Amino acid sequence: MSMTKIAAAKIVCKTLIAAAVLLFSGCERQMHAQSEFVLGTVCSINLYEAGSAELYGTLFARLRQLNDTFNNYSDSSEITRVNQNAAVAPVEVSQDFFIVLKTALDFARLTGGAFDPTVGPLVKLWGFGKTPRVPSQEEIEAAQKLVGWQCVILEGFTDQEAAAPTVRFTKSGVRLDLGAIAKGYAADCLVDILRERGVQRASISLGGNVYVYGKKRDGSLWSVAIRNPEKPGQNSFMLKTQDATIVTSGAYERFFEQDGKIYGHIFDPATGFPADSGLASVTIVSKTSMVADALSTSLFVLGLEKIPAIKKSALAGNFECVCVDTSGTAYASKGLKNSLSALNGQKIVWF
Ligand code: AMP
Ligand code: MG
Repeated sequence: MSMTKIAAAKIVCKTLIAAAVLLFSGCERQMHAQSEFVLGTVCSINLYEAGSAELYGTLFARLRQLNDTFNNYSDSSEITRVNQNAAVAPVEVSQDFFIVLKTALDFARLTGGAFDPTVGPLVKLWGFGKTPRVPSQEEIEAAQKLVGWQCVILEGFTDQEAAAPTVRFTKSGVRLDLGAIAKGYAADCLVDILRERGVQRASISLGGNVYVYGKKRDGSLWSVAIRNPEKPGQNSFMLKTQDATIVTSGAYERFFEQDGKIYGHIFDPATGFPADSGLASVTIVSKTSMVADALSTSLFVLGLEKIPAIKKSALAGNFECVCVDTSGTAYASKGLKNSLSALNGQKIVWF
């Protein structure tokens, strides 16, 4: 392909296309949420009657701290320090880093490597975050040799050990990317603060990763619209829920187009190419945003056929999902039958 085409490749940011959107009634709308660009996206929090400047300040400060931990595009973040040094010697990491990396490695094991926190060399090679391009097969194979969650050794924080946890890589060139899970963890961290403070209700959207906490003032459920992956300006589903997180993964959230073909930002480590499982989007509904975030990315790579096995895994009972395939057919798990409705004539196949 020509360099001109490469330069002309379009990259579309997740911040422009939120996958799930909170819908408010008229009186709720008057109480403004506060937003900040952090964690590489627009993060919005609405604390309603609990909305003091001090509490908003505490919550956004926590998001900034997590950004300093997980931002791959900062020279001074914790993840960059780990990526630069862990092949040389064990690197001490924070508790936040430990929790997120441990969960990411658990998901890598569960999914047979479809979810892989060492996908960094592929993300970098394909130019996400900089100039996107389709690399050569040789480049892809070289990058794939550096992807492998088994190369990451995470130690410490067991009941017996008081020492700080450490990370080391068994190979040089390994590069962690926790972008598929960090925003979910961040939402859970905000909810922890809300619980500690006795806040009754709040809604959180971290670039479309939504958490609806507590009950609405009138006792009714929150309404969360889920976008149509083929027509991101249009909503396909409405979910009525409370105390839940709604997280979507889809190629349409961040992609580039070259020679008429769309290349999404979620990779299949087995091929080195953007995942091509036949799914256009996966939305997870769960109580834990970190699990929902890791799962939405995992199922996007694995595809529809593998979902029953994951539903029977250690995660059984912990999540429901809505998937839309590339032909526009929607599949939703039966646990959502009373809370999910279709919009715009969209049909749902229940499984
Ligand atoms: P999400 O939007 O949560 O699905 O996360 C997508 C992001 O996770 C990408 O932008 C990459 O930074 C990273 N990523 C891409 N492919 C994978 C994968 N197979 N496993 C884990 N992380 C990935
Ligand atoms: Mg994710």
